[in-house]
Amino acid sequence: MLQMKLCGDLVLREKCEPVDEITPDVLSAMDEMVKMMAEQNGVGLAAPQVGITKRFLVMMNPDSGEVFKMVNPKITGRGTKTVIMEEGCLSVLGPDNLPVFANVSRPDSVTVEWIDEQGHPCAAEMSGLPARIIQHETDHLDGVLFIDYLSPVKREMVMRKVRRHK
Ligand SMILES: [Zn+2]
Repeated sequence: MLQMKLCGDLVLREKCEPVDEITPDVLSAMDEMVKMMAEQNGVGLAAPQVGITKRFLVMMNPDSGEVFKMVNPKITGRGTKTVIMEEGCLSVLGPDNLPVFANVSRPDSVTVEWIDEQGHPCAAEMSGLPARIIQHETDHLDGVLFIDYLSPVKREMVMRKVRRHK
C-alpha cells in the first residue's frame, strides 16, 4: 500500500527519473493514486508524493470529472497570460489534517504532452483549472512545491500551519 509523503520528507525534493517502460507496478501505482486522490478530495497526485521517484502522475479535470493517468508528462508550451489562483497540496497539510491553501501566480494555459497508460503519446492544450493542476503536478516531478513560489512571509505563514500538523 502506498503512503502519502508529507512536506519535510526529502523524497518530495528529488528530481524524478523518466519511466522507461510502463510496468504493472507503474499501472497499479497509478490506480492506487487515483483512489487516494479521490478519498482525499484532491485533483492531482504525483508519484513522489507516494514515495516513487519516477515521472508519472494522476489528475482529474474538476470541470468534466475526467481522470488522466500521465507517464512522462512534459509542459511544452506556456501561455503569456498569468493568473492568480489558490492552491493546496495533499503533501502540505495543516493542523486539521487538511491542505493549507495559498495564492500562486502561474500561466493560465499550457500545452502538455504525455504517454497514456496504454503507451500512446498524447498532447492537449489546457487552460483554467486543468492547466493549474498539471503545472502543480509536473512541478512535483522536479522536486518543486507550490510553497516555493510564495514570498518568504507568505511561506512562513503556511509553514507555521504545517509545523502544527500532527
Ligand atoms: Zn501537490
